[in-house]
Amino acid sequence: AIPLVVSISTERAAKSGVLVKDRLALETMRSVNTVLFDKTGTLTKGEPSVMGVAVAGTSSEERVVALAAAVEADSEHPLARAIVRAAADSGVAVPRATAFESSPGVGVTATVDGRRVSVGGPAMLARVGADGLTGTAHWTQEGRTVLHVLEDGAVVGAIGLADDVREESREAVAALTARNIEVVMLTGDAEAVAASVAADLGIPRYFAGVRPEDKANAVAQLQGEGRTVAMVGDGVNDAPALATADVGIAIGAGTDVAIASAGVILARDDPRQVLSVIRLSKASYRKMT
Ligand code: ADP
Ligand code: MG
Repeated sequence: AIPLVVSISTERAAKSGVLVKDRLALETMRSVNTVLFDKTGTLTKGEPSVMGVAVAGTSSEERVVALAAAVEADSEHPLARAIVRAAADSGVAVPRATAFESSPGVGVTATVDGRRVSVGGPAMLARVGADGLTGTAHWTQEGRTVLHVLEDGAVVGAIGLADDVREESREAVAALTARNIEVVMLTGDAEAVAASVAADLGIPRYFAGVRPEDKANAVAQLQGEGRTVAMVGDGVNDAPALATADVGIAIGAGTDVAIASAGVILARDDPRQVLSVIRLSKASYRKMT
C-alpha cells in the first residue's frame, strides 16, 4: 500500500510541477548532497543560434553555411537545427546530402557534391587530426560553441553558436549551494565553453568534453567519492546518467528517453524546481521515520 503521507505529497508535488514517477527517488532526494546538471538544454535554454561564421582559405561564408546545413539536415541535434535555420534565414541554396552518419558527442558527416563533409566540435577535429581556425578562439572563451566544417578532412570554415543560460539556473545554483549541496556541471561541450558557463553560473566543478557513453561514468565517479547524487538532464545522451544517479531528474521538455530514465520529472523547464523536490522529500519523509 502507498503510505498516505506520500500520496498526499506526490499530489502536492504535481501541483508544484514536480511529477514523481518513482517514490524511492523522492525519498532518496532528502539525502542528496551533490546535484549534477547537464549543461545544454538544462542549465541553458538548449536553443542555440548561429552568431558567427569564420572562413578558411578560398571558401565563403555562404558556402560554409550551405555545406553545414546540407549535412545537418538529417540531424535532430539542437545545434543542427540552428544551422539549418540560419541557412534558411540567409536564403542560401542548400545542396542535398547523402550517406549521412552521426557520431554522438562528435558531429555529423555526409556526402555533399561528391565530397565527404563533416560538421563537429573538438572531438571531430581530433579525429581527423585537424587544427581549429585561430579566429574562433575568442568565441570559445566567451562560452560559445564552435563547430568546424571540413571538406574531405580539410577545415573550410567554422560556425559559432550561442546558447543562452536560463536566468533561473543562476538562482538554482545559488540556492543549492546555500544549502550545502554541491553543484557540478556535465557537458559534451568543449572545456573552454564549460569553464565560461560554469564561471557565469557560479558552479565550482564541471566535467567537459564528456562523450555520451561516459556521462554515466561521471555520475559513478561522484558516487565513488561517497556522494549521493541527483542528476538533472534532458537529452537522449543523459538517459544512462539519469538511470545511474541516486535520483534521476528529467526536464519536462526533454526527450522521451530522458523522461523514461528518470524517477522525477520537472513539468517546467526550471532548474529551481530541483529545490522543490528536495523540500518535498524532506517534508514527506521526515514524518515517517
Ligand atoms: P551536451 O552534453 O552539451 O548536451 P552533446 O553530447 O549533445 O552535448 O554534444 C557534444 C558536442 O558534440 C557538441 O558540443 C558538438 O561539438 C558535437 N556534436 C553533437 N552533435 C552534433 C551535430 N549534430 N553537429 C555538430 N556537432 C555535434
Ligand atoms: Mg542536454
